[in-house]
Amino acid sequence: MTQQSESPEFFAQGERVGVLTAQPLDRLLDYRAPEGGCFLGAFVEVPLGPRKVIGVVWGEGAGGFDAAKLRSVIRVLDLAPMRTEMRGFLERAAQYTLTPMSMMLRLGTRAPGLADPPSMRKILRRGDQEPDRLTDARAKVLDVMDEYEGAAFTASELSGLAGVTSSVIKGLVKQGAICEEEAPRDLPFPPLDPELPGKTLSDDQAAAAAALEAGVNGGRYGTTLLKGVTGSGKTEVYLEAVAACLRKGRQALVLLPEIALTAEFLKRVEARFGAVPAEWHSGVTMTERRRVWRMVGQGAAQLVIGARSSLYLPFRDLGLIIVDEEHDTSYKQEEGVLYNARDLAVWRASLCQAQVVLASATPSLETWANAEAGKYTRLDLTSRFGEAVLPEMRAVDMRNEDLLPSTWISPTLKQAMKLRLERGEQSLLFLNRRGFAPVTICRACGTQVACDNCDARMVEHRFMKRLMCHQCGETKPVPIECPSCKVEGKMAPVGPGIERLGEEAAALFPEARIAVLSSDLFGSARALKQRIEEIAAGEADIILGTQLVAKGHNFPLLTLVGVIDADLGLQGSDLRAAERTFQLMRQVAGRAGRAERRGEALMQSFQPEHPVIRAILSGDEESFWKAEAAQRQAAGVPPYGRMAGIILSGTDLAQVFDLGGALARNDGQLRQVGAQLFGPAPAPIARVRGRHRVRLLVKADKGVPLQDAISRWIAPFKLKGDLRLNVDIDPQNF
Ligand code: ADP
Ligand code: ZN
Repeated sequence: MTQQSESPEFFAQGERVGVLTAQPLDRLLDYRAPEGGCFLGAFVEVPLGPRKVIGVVWGEGAGGFDAAKLRSVIRVLDLAPMRTEMRGFLERAAQYTLTPMSMMLRLGTRAPGLADPPSMRKILRRGDQEPDRLTDARAKVLDVMDEYEGAAFTASELSGLAGVTSSVIKGLVKQGAICEEEAPRDLPFPPLDPELPGKTLSDDQAAAAAALEAGVNGGRYGTTLLKGVTGSGKTEVYLEAVAACLRKGRQALVLLPEIALTAEFLKRVEARFGAVPAEWHSGVTMTERRRVWRMVGQGAAQLVIGARSSLYLPFRDLGLIIVDEEHDTSYKQEEGVLYNARDLAVWRASLCQAQVVLASATPSLETWANAEAGKYTRLDLTSRFGEAVLPEMRAVDMRNEDLLPSTWISPTLKQAMKLRLERGEQSLLFLNRRGFAPVTICRACGTQVACDNCDARMVEHRFMKRLMCHQCGETKPVPIECPSCKVEGKMAPVGPGIERLGEEAAALFPEARIAVLSSDLFGSARALKQRIEEIAAGEADIILGTQLVAKGHNFPLLTLVGVIDADLGLQGSDLRAAERTFQLMRQVAGRAGRAERRGEALMQSFQPEHPVIRAILSGDEESFWKAEAAQRQAAGVPPYGRMAGIILSGTDLAQVFDLGGALARNDGQLRQVGAQLFGPAPAPIARVRGRHRVRLLVKADKGVPLQDAISRWIAPFKLKGDLRLNVDIDPQNF
């Protein structure tokens, strides 16, 4: 075991302790340590006014109160104390994201109802004694116990099975016919075995795996970019690093961007280590979350596969974090605490002497630049595993294609799909637009149906026969008469959504089995997982997908990818647009020809000469990155400069702008450190759920302590009414 020995600080009964709670107060609360004392980091229940709340012993009390009036901690919860390193992590994340500690604590104690169940519970077994009087009821209980020879029961299980009241069971316990034992409440996770043989690695895979293993065995912090085209075996390679970590007795965490990834992924992990690891994401039940949370804290869960919030799990001895598809934008949390899980993973690892592996076929420019600068180690897997080769990529110049109105599959693409059907192979059409049609327009007056609460158009979802706002989720029926000119029967869908494309494909190939994969068409993550597995097994000929399918699913029969609108995402003023389009298109194209067959990727574009489209087609990534880097450097934006967004929101637009104006006029603290301020201007999404949003952008040179300057700048402003201010460090859109 390499676990650092940490001598926990202890507070004896009556000593003053400072407790951090999830209440919106920006300070610790003072209490006296309870009977029996408590450790630093202990989870405790404390009185707060008339209520009881849960908190963590965060340090010594601040003092300055009437010592006689100090109330006592009510009790210490039956949970492992929060480790120093975890407390440090939450503090650092709070400073970086300018988030109150109370809110960070909420993230760090995500398993709801932490307080409720103690970790031990009573179980019942057959005792040596016979009851002195054997009533019918008592006989029933003992029969059940004999029937399940040697088994342990909870009292309620036993009374249920025997059909008797709990008093009967209590009577038997008293007489020694049944004995009570204490047992852990949580079922243990089956042990993972790192010694099971992995796949035989190719030479460059083996070299990469050896480098990662050496890092893990060193027991120190380090970050490695593991770059390799889709299908090059990155997963196989980093599973070897996980094996090395488990051998050392330390815990490992694999972060994935999409829960849909886990079905196939868990199977691979199970095949490698002989048992299923712990899971942590929105699809996990509350009961299971509590179990995972506690087991992780005890060090009894060796490996967690999770979404970004698993970074806040209380690992006892974390030795390795894998961030798979590290470039994925879903790692950035865009509500509440605004953080990028990839960056937090690196910090967390540096605080607990762990290794980080950032895996991607198309790394983010940030990571690419860190590797260039020598801060991260870089490992490259250059070829696809086995016979698989990268698909042949071509642009379909839409200016030369003959298309009927309201159709989007070009004759060229149609021809390629037909060929796949004849060969019994699969085609995938990619369109990053959920729903049936992005716009519903009145053909009489030109009005587009917009959301009442947001600055967004309503998107038609035909399968639920309604229009939906993708910002706030509000829905309404498809109007028969125009909301503006009141003319009836003129409302028409405009533009393609994934559902509409499905209809077009079905009309072109009536005999084909068509599967539409869009997150909103599935009631649950589980249903979606299941569908993906069926498709991988060959139960579809044509797959239509949104962003969802770009991520890591293996479809062995897939040999054609058609990108319906390669230009989507190249428009707009977003500086990251080129990077995103580049990544997404490369990922999607990587879906084709993963097994033995060479794949083909066709990109429909009206501007095939655009530099980004050309870079995608030529596959010359290094030049693309260098060009992107030069542009960002010239503009002084991340990763070559620092940026922060200040989002102001409220129901009264004038008030929101007034606050923005006041902030802009009083920017002395920013100017002092040489930072520039832009705005206020309407935020990228100017209205959400009836709240207007206005943004100020702060830009500064690399070395500027931006957070300090920002907190000093905004501190004097009191937020009136329903005004809110959120700081977004490293915004995704700038
Ligand atoms: P990536 O994570 O880079 O997309 P994977 O690890 O998923 O690549 O590998 C792609 C496919 O090739 C998977 O089905 C994987 O099991 C297989 N594969 C990769 N390396 C090997 C190997 N050394 N031996 C056998 N199969 C391998
Ligand atoms: Zn809306």
